[in-house]
Amino acid sequence: MSHPLFDITGRTALVTGSSRGIGLALARGLAEAGCTVVLNGRDGERLAEAARKLPGKVHTAVFDVTDGPSVAAGIKDVEERVGPLDILVNNAGMQLRAPLLEFTDSDWHRVLDTNLTSAFLVGREAARYMTARGHGKIVNICSLQSEVVRPGIAPYAATKGALKMLTKGMCADWGPSGVQVNGLGPGYIETELTQALVDDEEFSAWVRRRTPAGRWGRTEDLVGGVLFLASPAADFVSGQILYVDGGMTSVL
Ligand code: NDP
Repeated sequence: MSHPLFDITGRTALVTGSSRGIGLALARGLAEAGCTVVLNGRDGERLAEAARKLPGKVHTAVFDVTDGPSVAAGIKDVEERVGPLDILVNNAGMQLRAPLLEFTDSDWHRVLDTNLTSAFLVGREAARYMTARGHGKIVNICSLQSEVVRPGIAPYAATKGALKMLTKGMCADWGPSGVQVNGLGPGYIETELTQALVDDEEFSAWVRRRTPAGRWGRTEDLVGGVLFLASPAADFVSGQILYVDGGMTSVL
C-alpha cells in the first residue's frame, strides 16, 4: 500500500501545454494517481484526442497561455465547469535556437511570452482561487537551462532562469495563504521540442556522455517528481527547484 502522504486521489489538476510531450506524460501520471485532470493547449481537436487516451476523469481547456484575457477566462471556466483547482503544472513552453546576433525582436518576445509570462498569467489566475481557499500546489516546469546555458539558446535559458526566480517569488507571496510553489527542472528529454537534437548523432552522443545516467531522459522520468511536489508529502517544501536530469547539472 502506498503511504497516505503521497495520496492525491480526487484532486483536480491542470497541466498547461499537455497536448503532447512532457505535459501529456505529467497529465497521464496525475490521472493514474487518481486526479481529475484538465489538459490544456491551443488545438481543441488534438487535446480531445489526447484526452481519450488517458484514464479516469479527463477534461480539456483550450486557451493560449500567453494571452491574459484568455487565461483569466480559461481558469474561471475550469473552476466552474470541472471544480476547484488543487494542482497547477505550468508546463507550456517553446524553444527557438539561433545565435543571439541573429535573434529577432519578435522571436525574443515569443519565447518570453510562452515560457515566462505564461507562468505568471496562469499562476496568478489560479492563485486567486487557491489563496482564497487556503491551499494549492503549483509546479513550474523549469529546465537544466535555469542553471547553465549553451551557445544558441540564450533567450530560452533566460526565460528558464527567470522562471526559477518567479517560482521563489510566488512561494514568498502565496506561501502565507497555504499555496506551495516549486519548480521541476528536466534535463535533456526526448520530445518533439528536442527531436532535431535527438536526430543529430553528434549532439545526441554528447548528451549521453555528459549525463551521469548515460542516456536521454524520457517523459515518464519526470512524473515522480511532479507527483511528489503535488502531494501532502511536500506540504513544507516550497520555492525549490528539483532537477530531474540524470545528474547532468551536477557534473562538469
Ligand atoms: P513540446 O513542444 O513537445 O510541447 C509543448 C506543449 O506546449 C504542447 O502541448 C503545446 O501545445 C503547448 N504550448 C505551446 N505554446 C502554447 C501556448 N501559447 N498556449 C498553450 N499551450 C502551448 O515540448 P516539451 O514537452 O518538450 O516541453 C514541455 C516543457 O518542458 C517546456 O516548458 C520546456 O521548456 C520544458 N523542458 C523540456 C525539455 C526537453 O528536453 N524536452 C528540457 C527542459 C525543459 P499546442 O501546440 O497544441 O498548443
